[in-house]
Amino acid sequence: MSTNTLLILPGDGIGQEVMTEVRKVITWFGDKRGITFDVSEDLVGGAAYDKHGTPLTDETMAKAQEVDAVLLGAVGGPKYDDLDFSVKPERGLLRLRKELDLFANLRPAQCFGALADFSSLKKDIVAGLDIMIVRELTSGIYFGEPRGIITENNERVGINTQRYTESEIERVARAAFELAMKRGKKLCSMEKANVMESGILWRQVVTEVHKDYPEVELSHMYADNGAMQLVRAPKQFDVIVTDNLFGDILSDCAAMLTGSLGMLPSASLGLPMANGRPRAMYEPVHGSAPDIAGKGLANPSACILSFAMALRYSFDMGAEADRLEAAVESVLADGIRTADLLQSDGQKPASTSQMGDAIVAALDASL
Ligand code: NAD
Repeated sequence: MSTNTLLILPGDGIGQEVMTEVRKVITWFGDKRGITFDVSEDLVGGAAYDKHGTPLTDETMAKAQEVDAVLLGAVGGPKYDDLDFSVKPERGLLRLRKELDLFANLRPAQCFGALADFSSLKKDIVAGLDIMIVRELTSGIYFGEPRGIITENNERVGINTQRYTESEIERVARAAFELAMKRGKKLCSMEKANVMESGILWRQVVTEVHKDYPEVELSHMYADNGAMQLVRAPKQFDVIVTDNLFGDILSDCAAMLTGSLGMLPSASLGLPMANGRPRAMYEPVHGSAPDIAGKGLANPSACILSFAMALRYSFDMGAEADRLEAAVESVLADGIRTADLLQSDGQKPASTSQMGDAIVAALDASL
């Protein structure tokens, strides 16, 4: 049997608290399902800076290169706001993404039935929503050269460059088609081919890759229309693939359809390693939440659901991922809520650890 290796990087603030609950889930899978993980732990972000003077040591980076999956909590906090840019906690995260070459960022937007009232949209528009946004993560306008602020004709000019190579588009398109094959076999590609050459190339390359996935129904949409459609009728989508800039905005927009930041997981995937598993990092979408850190108020669901994504995408254990997601859903259906999921002041919120324990109890009930 192959070993499943996992590097846990809790990071800062609530990252550490929510990871405690993930460890309970990992232990449960070992004890009750015989699925064991070779887990190592290390520091990232402010925690690494405090000990080593850098948000990510070379040793930790090397470990991340070796494991099947990295599970990260969150980084950052006011204590580190005035640090030099080169050692800010976020640099640790960016280095991991860059050196692991994690080009496909998967952001599910799933509306658990029990939370449908929680969305800012009408219940019938979001109930049962289950879409996946695949955002290109390592290229595009956030990285393109030239960039900078220059002076021209006696005024300052801000410059960024949207640049995509065919191969960069092809690999993220392929990742999105593969996902669509495992889901509803529908893929919508979003760009601005009406006004951007990079969008024209994006559309051409996605259309070419489609030839390898004839079973998938492919559509193209301008990203501005995509934004409108996401809030008008989000259930029309299954998988959406888009570039770094549009994906940044559209995935946040889609995520909020479902309610709280405390419920949102993510995965970032790269090329396959020698053992066939993709390079991968899993992390909740939320940050270190300094306003609630240390108070036992954080919702651990996003981090636990990130581990469910690891089960599905790194360890090929889709059924166990389903089991874990169903456990989270059943806890919500039972009305157990952390403070971020409460709408009235009347109900006493569950603490971070009570929520984790309830999810483990729901896993027990699933056997
Ligand atoms: P945040 O996501 O940390 O918090 C935003 C709001 O959501 C806060 O009110 C917080 O209490 C709440 N919240 C977030 N996660 C929650 C959870 N699991 N349960 C309950 N409530 C939750 O964003 P921010 O306040 O803008 O940033 C705080 C710090 O985190 C900053 O230093 C920022 O740079 C960093 N950050 C890190 C990441 C990351 O590690 N990936 C992402 C975003 C922000």
